[in-house]
Amino acid sequence: MELQTDILIVGAGLTGLTTAHYLQKNSRSFLVVEQATHVGGAIQTGEENGFIFEQGPSTGVMNNEIVREVFDDISSLCTLEWAANNVNKRFILKNNRWQPLPSGVLGGITTPLFKFSDKLRLLTEPFRKPGTNPNETLDQLVKRRMGKSFLDYAVDPFILGVYAGDPSYLVPRFALPKLYQLEQNYGSFIGGSVKMQLEKRKLKEKKPPKQPHRIFSAKGGLHNLTHALMQSAGKEKFLLGIQQLSLLPTDNNHFKAEGILPNGEKILIQANQIITTTGASSLHSLLPFVENHLLNNITNLHYAKVVQVAVGFNHWLGTPIDGFGGLIPSKENKQLLGVLYPSAFLSHRAPEGGALLSIFLGGVRHPEVFDMPDNAIRQLIGISLQEWMGLKSFNPDLFQVFRYQEAIPQYGADCEARFITLDRLQQQFPSLHIGGNLRGGIGMADRIKQGKQLANEI
Ligand SMILES: Cc1cc2nc3c(=O)[nH]c(=O)nc-3n(C[C@H](O)[C@H](O)[C@H](O)COP(=O)(O)OP(=O)(O)OC[C@H]3O[C@@H](n4cnc5c(N)ncnc54)[C@H](O)[C@@H]3O)c2cc1C
Repeated sequence: MELQTDILIVGAGLTGLTTAHYLQKNSRSFLVVEQATHVGGAIQTGEENGFIFEQGPSTGVMNNEIVREVFDDISSLCTLEWAANNVNKRFILKNNRWQPLPSGVLGGITTPLFKFSDKLRLLTEPFRKPGTNPNETLDQLVKRRMGKSFLDYAVDPFILGVYAGDPSYLVPRFALPKLYQLEQNYGSFIGGSVKMQLEKRKLKEKKPPKQPHRIFSAKGGLHNLTHALMQSAGKEKFLLGIQQLSLLPTDNNHFKAEGILPNGEKILIQANQIITTTGASSLHSLLPFVENHLLNNITNLHYAKVVQVAVGFNHWLGTPIDGFGGLIPSKENKQLLGVLYPSAFLSHRAPEGGALLSIFLGGVRHPEVFDMPDNAIRQLIGISLQEWMGLKSFNPDLFQVFRYQEAIPQYGADCEARFITLDRLQQQFPSLHIGGNLRGGIGMADRIKQGKQLANEI
């Protein structure tokens, strides 16, 4: 089979789907090739016996206006769902008990999570000098400014929740650029946050106020978002189940893509421009024309392995579930990273009176969980939930395990060489646009933002 298109998108995860949505909106001609037989990438939703459960992300943080724009565009196909207000209640496990994560000053003073000496030390945080090493790791930054107990019981669990990662590997300049800029621009986290609030207040007087960052999902599950994006882009533009795809530049600086259709037939697509939105490791086979030493700078991106387990109960008999969920600091030495309570903050996720939990395990600190059999994972979760959540026995009505070999990219010091190489390739091959989670952020909102940027770039 031979096809021709102006733009070829590789990958139909959230990034590729958003790019397709915006190209369609701009009346561009394009095709999307995806190796899986379905769209959505990491975003997949399951439905069983009254439970609606996510296999990848459950929610995103609306940290930019493009997410809202996308939901507005597809509002006839999919409805945005805001998480209930109780999502601000979050817990941190300490000595096998959930402790509320403090939000205000009083909570911060009285919480048993942090050491008294570190609470006192926080008072002098605004007077500490900003760091000078651009590749300082997150643990070094936090210890320097806030103290070890804040690293252990606030930053480390946050990093486990977002990156399934390790603060001694992640470099804030790449992994948490806003935090890095706070110190670099204002000299302090506390002073910087206060100054930013004051600046925002002044701006508000001139401009309409921006919406605060809220937690979002899609009614009925996030698959409704990805399917709606495919529909709005045009279902007929998607070629699914394409294996062994490889791209080659042609003489006129265009590209040809070769792959195998599900029926075993060869497919050849001529395209003027290419947008890749896959994870880093796929680029080895996709871009065989790029010299190995250059490509290695990109594909050496390390990903955390994550196991996610959907656990549902028709009748919840444990301690009342109210809040977003709890995170488990590395110091507690557990293979579980966190427990989310989707049925407590999203609608219709479990039968009335029941509960849906989404449990994350593994991450960079416990990659061995990835290879554990389901029954061992079930035993581990059963013991943990009985210990932490007041269950007398563990007999869930839903128990499904999902494994992600390359779940979350870890933005460490090697990002610098990666970004330089990506820029070099972009100059050498102007019609090749490399997107995906190897840069630009790991959250759903970041992916949506990048999808629009990629479409606009062209
Ligand atoms: C377990 C888990 C939990 C998460 N939790 C959250 C969360 O709570 N909040 C949040 O905001 N984000 C979360 N994320 C991150 C979020 O899911 C991702 O950022 C987002 O879904 C990634 O979208 P993407 O399109 O960039 O990549 P992907 O979803 O990985 O899509 C890439 C696509 O490219 C395809 N592909 C790869 N190679 C080829 C090839 N050679 N040929 C053709 N196609 C190819 C893949 O099959 C895939 O469909 C989580 C991720 C995981 C894995």
